[in-house]
Amino acid sequence: MAYQPDENRYDKINYRRCGNSGVKLPSISLGLWHNFGETDDYENCRNILHTAFDNGITHFDLANNYGPPPGAAEMTFGKIFKQDFKPLRDELIISSKAGYQMWDGPYGDWGSKKYLVASLDQSLKRMGLDYVDIFYHHRPDPETPLEETMSALDLIVRQGKALYVGLSNYKPHEAKKAIDMLRRLGTPCLIIQPRYSMFDRWVEDGLLDVLEEEKVGCITFSSLAQGLLTNKYLHGIPEDSRVGRHLTNGAITQSQITEEVLNKVKQLNEIAAKRNQTLAQMALAWVLKDNRITSVILGASKTKQVIEGIEASKNVEFSKEELDKIDFILHQ
Ligand code: NDP
Repeated sequence: MAYQPDENRYDKINYRRCGNSGVKLPSISLGLWHNFGETDDYENCRNILHTAFDNGITHFDLANNYGPPPGAAEMTFGKIFKQDFKPLRDELIISSKAGYQMWDGPYGDWGSKKYLVASLDQSLKRMGLDYVDIFYHHRPDPETPLEETMSALDLIVRQGKALYVGLSNYKPHEAKKAIDMLRRLGTPCLIIQPRYSMFDRWVEDGLLDVLEEEKVGCITFSSLAQGLLTNKYLHGIPEDSRVGRHLTNGAITQSQITEEVLNKVKQLNEIAAKRNQTLAQMALAWVLKDNRITSVILGASKTKQVIEGIEASKNVEFSKEELDKIDFILHQ
C-alpha cells in the first residue's frame, strides 16, 4: 500500500536553525549507520523511516560505508525512497559522507578530490537521488592538503550534487581552518558532526566555541553511547541489542559494559525517573539543552525507540541541581 505520511507530522517535533544558514533541522534526526544493512529486516527498516517521518523527523543521515556491507544502508534507503518517499523529496534533508575506506586501491579512502567526487556519484546511484542535501567529509585526512579536500566539497556543490557541505570528526583547530577555507571558496560550511554524549564530552573543550563563533551548526552522533546510556543493559545483555548481536564495524562490545559504567548508568537512570523521562530520553535531552546543538542523530533498531527519542525533545530544560548531580556521577 502507498505510504501516506501523518498529516500532523510538523506539529510533533521542534526545528532548530542550523548556524546562520537558511536550514532548520528537527531536534532529533535519524541515522542509518546500523540496522539498515543487508541482513536487517526490510519491513522493519521501512517502518522505522515511516515512524520517523510521521513524527516530523525530516533528516536522514547516511554515509557511503554504512551497512554491512559498506553501501548497503544507502541501497536499503534507496529502495524505501523509491517506494515511499520520492514524492516527498522536497520535505527531506538527506546526507551522505565519504572519508573512510570504501573501495580497494589508493582512491577509495581519506580526502582526495578523486575519492570524494567518485564516492558521492556512487552514493547518489545507490540512493536513486539527483543530489544530497548535505555532503560531509567524514574524517580529517592527515596527508591530503586541506585545500584539496575543501575544494572538492566546493566543486561538488557547484556541480549540483550537494546543496550544503559539512565536516565530521574534525578537532577544533582543524574545523576552524576548514570553515575559513570553505567560506573563502564561497561554499560555507553548514554543519559539523561530532560524537557527543554524557560519556564523551570532548566537544566542550573548544569545538562548540568555534562553532558558536563561526555560526556553524552542530549535529551530534552516538549521544546514547550506542545504547549504553539507556536502561537496556542494566539487567544483562538482551539478545536483540547492539551488544547482543555481536555487530562489527565500530559497534560497542560487551567489554565496554563494565561495573563502573553500569554503576553510573544506574544512578543516571534514577535522575531520569525523577524527571519523568527514561534514561534514553534524558541522555538526548542533556545534549539538546545546549542551544549550540542543532540536532541529535538518533540510531534506532525499533520504531518504539524513535518514538521514545522524539518525546525527549519536549523536555530539554535541566535545573542546576540536576546538572550538578549528573556531573558528580559522571566524574565518579
Ligand atoms: P546512538 O547512541 O543513538 O545509539 C543507537 C542505538 O541505541 C540504537 O541502534 C539502539 O540499539 C539503541 N537505542 C536507541 N534508542 C533506544 C531506547 N530508547 N532504548 C534502548 N535502546 C535504544 O547512536 P549511533 O551510535 O547509532 O549513531 C547514530 C547515528 O549517528 C548513526 O546512525 C550515524 O548516522 C551517525 N554516526 C556518525 C558517525 C560519524 O563518524 N560521523 C559515527 C557514528 C554514528 P539496539 O536496540 O540495537 O541495542
